[in-house]
Amino acid sequence: MSTAAPIIVWFERDLRLADNPALAEAVQSGRPVLPLFVLDDATAGPWRRGAASRWWLDRSLAALARDLTTVGLPLLLRRGPAARAVPAVVAESGAAAVVWNRRYEPWSRPRDAAIKEMLAQSGIAVRSHNAGLLREPWEVRTGEGEPYRVFTPFWRTLRAIGVAGRPLPAPAAATAPASLPAGDRLEDWDLSPRRPDWAGGLRRTWSPGEAGARRRLTEFLSAGLAGYRDGRDRPDRPGTSMLSPHLHFGELSPRLVWSAVADAVAADPGLAAGGEAYRRELGWREFSHHLLFHHDRLPDAPLRAEFADMPWRRAPDELRAWQRGRTGYPIVDAGMRQLWETGWMHNRVRMVVASFLVKDLLIPWQEGAAWFWDTLVDADLANNSASWQWVAGCGADAQPFFRVFNPVLQGRKFDPDGAYVRRFVPELARLPASWIHEPWKAPADVLAEAGVRLDRDYPRPIVDHGAARGRALAALEATRRSAA
Ligand code: FAD
Repeated sequence: MSTAAPIIVWFERDLRLADNPALAEAVQSGRPVLPLFVLDDATAGPWRRGAASRWWLDRSLAALARDLTTVGLPLLLRRGPAARAVPAVVAESGAAAVVWNRRYEPWSRPRDAAIKEMLAQSGIAVRSHNAGLLREPWEVRTGEGEPYRVFTPFWRTLRAIGVAGRPLPAPAAATAPASLPAGDRLEDWDLSPRRPDWAGGLRRTWSPGEAGARRRLTEFLSAGLAGYRDGRDRPDRPGTSMLSPHLHFGELSPRLVWSAVADAVAADPGLAAGGEAYRRELGWREFSHHLLFHHDRLPDAPLRAEFADMPWRRAPDELRAWQRGRTGYPIVDAGMRQLWETGWMHNRVRMVVASFLVKDLLIPWQEGAAWFWDTLVDADLANNSASWQWVAGCGADAQPFFRVFNPVLQGRKFDPDGAYVRRFVPELARLPASWIHEPWKAPADVLAEAGVRLDRDYPRPIVDHGAARGRALAALEATRRSAA
């Protein structure tokens, strides 16, 4: 403990000790270090965290507090607009400086700039760092100095620039301030969902916090990376890293993951193809964050303006069937139930369910993004918004709207034995693989033997895919004509 003026480390999307440049700077300053987290729902407004993310945050903050204790530091919790809470903690603690790692949401950037200016005017030293991206959004530009709108040249440039530096180690020890301002108790924030049965699946699937993130990374490098390039599209296998919530909350830095992959490949050149495919996905994360930085309206308005006039349908019953995994298309329903049960969904299936909502049901992508926002543990304003716009055909470098996924063919191709469907749609578990992706076409004796009564145990399709595809293409054509 020390009575010198402390330096505040303001945590938000960087809930870790390793490769945390703000924390490293604070510890190196020799001042007492005061770690602070502010629950700033007030500024986030419509983008306050959804239910699954709040569950994760609760556990991740508890883990961060425990980890900080091991290096001798407390974690101070405050709630309210950060523009009030941060200066208040500065005043109450007598801090001489504040450091943080940058965030990129459209609601947080103006907030942070204003706080920086306010503190600087009072003579408080303020510094921010990059800890959440491989490169800052202003560092990756076209030859003309413009931000990229197309992934491939963006990726080429990012690969050419490379990733700056090596990950920093976690501090071994630090000095806490002699006295602390009063803080909130995490329990009083009431972050856990009101439906305790729902949280059971989350608890069984995840270990929020830096230690859980490290374990997941180590397992993936040893068991998943080798088969990643060919296996990443298969939801019936554990082929991807499942690091997305850990990356979202900053329990791992992308730089640390990037260099861990590089080290694994250096040690075993046989991992090169998997390593390159994996880093490309980190590239998509980066691209999405850069898009959000350059387009504040990415979360709610189409990047291609003509899509604003798309004749979307209001269909609350169909939306609810989609949310609950009762559309009658097994691969769609398995995905939506995986999401509900575990707070996560495989990327291939995210694309299929999103295409189904936007094209087969012609329901606005923003409705799907909102449901994902509430139920995903990795809900991320950049990745979620950019991915929904990609599927809906209205984003930068998007999949064309006229490319409509056929849910039966997608199921057959990526879940050939139906293992994924069987796991999440147990009422179909006894159907043979040849019928599992279109049970409504199965002969009566096959259904009877599998114990499936259509409409009672499992619904018939809520739309006919062929007809729905035609309706979607007609809607697109009408939009194009009105824009011309
Ligand atoms: P891996 O395959 O192991 O990939 C490693 C990491 O790369 C991921 O953890 C993630 O950080 C990043 N990544 C992978 N694919 C993408 C992608 N297409 N776009 C951006 N980053 C990517 N991802 C989120 O993190 N949060 C979201 O809210 C989100 N919403 C999505 C919504 C839709 C409609 C779609 C189609 C995709 C969405 N994604 C989102 C992207 C992707 O599905 C997830 O990042 C991925 O499934 C996470 O699983 P993983 O960690 O096992 O991925």
